[in-house]
Amino acid sequence: MLMSQLYAPTLRETPAEAELASHRFMLRAGLIRRSAAGVYSFLPLGLRVIRKVEAIIREEMSKIGGQEVLMPIVQPAELWHATGRWNDYGDEMFRLVDRHNRQFCLGPTHEELITDLIRSEVRSYRQLPLRLYQIQNKYRDEIRPRFGLIRGREFIMKDMYSFDRDEQGLDESYWACYHAYERIFARCGLDARPVEADSGAIGGDVTHEFMVLADAGEDLVLYCTSCEYAANVERAEAGPVASAKAAGEQLPMEEVATPGTTTIQEITAFLGVEATQCIKTMIYLADGEPVAALVRGDHELNEVKLQRLLGCSQLELADPETIAQVTNAPVGFAGPVGLAVPIVADHAVLEMVNAVTGANKADYHVKNVNVGRDFNADKAADIRAAQPGDPCPTCGAPLTSAWGIEVGQVFKLGTKYSAALKATFLDENGKEQPLIMGCYGIGVGRTAAAVIEQNHDEHGICWPMSIAPYHVIVVPVSVKDEQQWETAQAIYKALQDAQVEVVLDDRDERPGVKFKDADLIGFPIRITVGPKSLSQGNVEVTLRKTGDRTEVPVHQITEYVVNIISKG
Ligand SMILES: [Zn+2]
Repeated sequence: MLMSQLYAPTLRETPAEAELASHRFMLRAGLIRRSAAGVYSFLPLGLRVIRKVEAIIREEMSKIGGQEVLMPIVQPAELWHATGRWNDYGDEMFRLVDRHNRQFCLGPTHEELITDLIRSEVRSYRQLPLRLYQIQNKYRDEIRPRFGLIRGREFIMKDMYSFDRDEQGLDESYWACYHAYERIFARCGLDARPVEADSGAIGGDVTHEFMVLADAGEDLVLYCTSCEYAANVERAEAGPVASAKAAGEQLPMEEVATPGTTTIQEITAFLGVEATQCIKTMIYLADGEPVAALVRGDHELNEVKLQRLLGCSQLELADPETIAQVTNAPVGFAGPVGLAVPIVADHAVLEMVNAVTGANKADYHVKNVNVGRDFNADKAADIRAAQPGDPCPTCGAPLTSAWGIEVGQVFKLGTKYSAALKATFLDENGKEQPLIMGCYGIGVGRTAAAVIEQNHDEHGICWPMSIAPYHVIVVPVSVKDEQQWETAQAIYKALQDAQVEVVLDDRDERPGVKFKDADLIGFPIRITVGPKSLSQGNVEVTLRKTGDRTEVPVHQITEYVVNIISKG
């Protein structure tokens, strides 16, 4: 490809809307262009990257017996009604109506459709396991699309679905895919970490997310500094805390006036106590029923854990009216003593002695509250968010935190969709059983963006060889110099013959301009054909990632470059 012909309109200025490096460089290097909020076109360089990520995915899916299909984007509403997700999906679903007034959606995911696809044709255990996947556009009407390809409303996704006869089969499918994902992300040049995650609305129980640790990430990950444990913050188990019980005798309860102090910060300042001595009492509505949740003052409540514990389908903080009814006090003065609603306490609360809590009375708190003596918890559980410094639940070493970009996810669905859509098979005994399902996704565009987040510098992208749009750019310092131009053309031709993906910068531009573009686009290898090297019979090879420069004899350049590329 000649640079003068390559459709890669580069931008000198950083577009105002681009906050992240990946977004910025994808726009500036001419990989993508925005057509609406969260909706992008891929230009030639961007599409070449996407196709390479897809090729790696296809190879690894094929290795674990995945067969590729292509399902429609437009999906009938009936299937979604059958699983209850037509309503559950809410405003994130793009919906449309055809001329006959039939309802459809643009697929945000394909569990319903694939279950419908196979249910009339998979009949026997002999056809299992079955692992089908596709690479296709998905649609989610994000409330705040941003960060370019990282959170778009139209995005390319690989989604695989597995169908097995029993739990053991599902387990095999799950771990086969898990390990395939490890290989895929490694081959894309990503440092991605599998973390335990909560399954959320999609259903099922076991799930891992593959997180790329990057400052630009939107998900908080907690991981162990000495073992492999890692979990997202919704899921991470909060380990035991040191008990204060041995430290002090229980003092008599004492009501104290605390006018206008409603937050932990205000109370600690007002009473001169530590947050670790306070109990935060929060009144929630669990499917409409009030419940009090207690955590230590320095801890944050984890609503995902609380909801899972209570087994409710809706959980929300109670409104001020309900709080006044339950506690006889305005917001900010709730405490567990004398409360008539069920009390759920975090494990750490049970280890407290002489705690400060709200007095269930406006402008009053109570000192020296002791669990067991002054109140009892109906349930004690891990309901707080784990935080950095907490002990690892596996080995006890301190946890540390980092931001992550989720690039893939593996789920065990079980029979949620097969039961709702009646997808069954006959087992060895001729008995009808529901298919056991798993689903496995990779954000293809997001993976490419995450690669940039981990591989760039202030000048541009530093593509890993495996997914670089082209391997090499050949830059003659002056195209008007006959010797330089002829040498550059000869190298270009020889590299093409050796199956190297190469661009020749044939533009009559200053060398500085050409080098800038080469760095911005991120060609892993730059071959500079300049007068000084050429007088020695050499050209200069510069590696984008390290900046290393080597003089290489012109007659050895093809071999030299092919060798670098083969090492990846
Ligand atoms: Zn550990």
